This record gives sequence, structure tokens and C-alpha cells, in this order.
Amino acid sequence: AIEIRNLVKRFGAFTAVKDVNISVPAGSFLVLVGPSGCGKSTLLRMLAGLEGPSEGEIAFVGQTVSSGAGGVIADAGRRNAGLVFQSYALWPHMTVAGNIAWPLKVARWPREKRDRRVKEVLALLGIGALAERYPAEISGGQQQRVAIARTIAPEPSILLFDEPLSNLDAKLRIEMRSELMRIHRATGATSVYVTHDQVEAMTMATHVAVLNNGRVEQFGKPIELLRNPATTFVATFLGTPP
Ligand code: ATP
Ligand code: MG
Repeated sequence: AIEIRNLVKRFGAFTAVKDVNISVPAGSFLVLVGPSGCGKSTLLRMLAGLEGPSEGEIAFVGQTVSSGAGGVIADAGRRNAGLVFQSYALWPHMTVAGNIAWPLKVARWPREKRDRRVKEVLALLGIGALAERYPAEISGGQQQRVAIARTIAPEPSILLFDEPLSNLDAKLRIEMRSELMRIHRATGATSVYVTHDQVEAMTMATHVAVLNNGRVEQFGKPIELLRNPATTFVATFLGTPP
């Protein structure tokens, strides 16, 4: 479960995130959607522990991981969160299997357990045949699969995605949506997924928060937002008729 309470993020005089309140149960697929500059990445970075909030609190499974007073209380590893960004940032000098094994080596998993887990996630992502290739020898879509495999390898309980599909072509993007939902379910993790694409948001989310100007315009299940948009901004953004 993730709880975000009265969260505020200021950069100097500018407030990027304004009093955000969102709670979702374990296993949810929460989508943060909204136009460019509305504060999606800033919110996700705070969930990841890359940045502390100015005010408010974030709790994972009932444990406060960040607060305005305490800053980043638990770092990314200790909050058991895995991140997938738009850029894959694979190690060019390591094979696909080497890239996926890397976080497990850092976490000091024993050799056998590590090898078993690498095989498991290679199979889950359907990239077993690419294990011994180097990042430069595989396609962009395959690189993104490797990046996802590397992120889920240490079995994080929270998965954080920041526009992970935006570098892919339209066909691959649609294919990867259902892939990501399958992976989300297979890991049993709670996921938070940032996108500016309302179709992606509505098809993937169990819960969705529409952001505008740092504020949550509406939070709920996709069907609730589509049937009952709370503001004209939400109605216009989702393309629902008035
Ligand atoms: P996009 O869809 O374009 O990625 P976003 O919703 O992810 O946009 P953010 O990156 O969260 O938007 O930025 C929200 C606002 O906060 C923007 O106006 C941005 O310029 C500002 N901002 C983000 N990071 C900083 C920073 N480190 N210092 C100052 N302002 C920042
Ligand atoms: Mg962003």
C-alpha cells in the first residue's frame, strides 16, 4: 500500500507539487497522468526517495519513508522500490544477463540464487535468447525489456515507471502496455506509472490521478473519472463529452 499525505514540493518560490493526497492498496496500478510540467516526475522522484518533500508524508506499507520534517527517511533500496525511466541506461560493457545480475551482486545475493533469478526474469520478459548479447546488439524495445528485467530482479515491492514507453514506436508501445500489466501482476508489486497519454492511463490503471499545475484534479478508478469527471479540466483532458 502507498499513502501520500498533504505532499508539497517547492523549488525556491515555485511550488511544483501542491497538497497531494493519494492512497492505494497493495497490488494497485496507480497512474499519474497530466500535461507536461504538471509535476508527475517530481511526485515520482519523491516516491523513489531521490528527492525529499517540502511538506507532508509518504508511507509504504504503513512505514513513513519520506516526510517534510525528516526528508528522505528510507533510500531507494531500503524502501524496496524499483525505478524504470524513459532512458534505459544499461551498462554498455556488460551482457544482458550481466546487466540484470548487477543489482543482485550489489545486494550480495549468493551466486546460485542470483543465476536462478536472472533466468527467471529473462523468461518473464521473453528475452532469454538475448542473455549473452551486449546492449548495442539489441533493439530499443529489447533494451527497454532488459531495463525492466533489471529493475524487477531484486523483487521490489513497489515499481515506479516514468514514461517508460515514450521512446518506442506506436505499435510496440501498445504491445508493451499489456506486457507491463502482466509483469506487474506477476511480481505482485504495487506500481506507480507516469504518463501524459490519457489512453495509456485509462487502459492500464486500477487507480488514476489526473494532475494539473501540481494539484490532483481528480483521483479514482478509471471508470469513475470517465463517468463522472470532477472538473472541466478532467473532462477535456480525458476527452469525455460534457
Ligand atoms: P513532463 O510531462 O514534461 O515530463 P512533468 O509533469 O513530469 O512534465 P515535472 O518534471 O515534475 O513535470 O516538473 C514540474 C514543474 O516543476 C515544472 O514546471 C518544472 O520546471 C519544475 N521543476 C522540476 N524540477 C525542478 C527543479 N529541480 N528546480 C526547479 N524547478 C523544477
Ligand atoms: Mg516528467
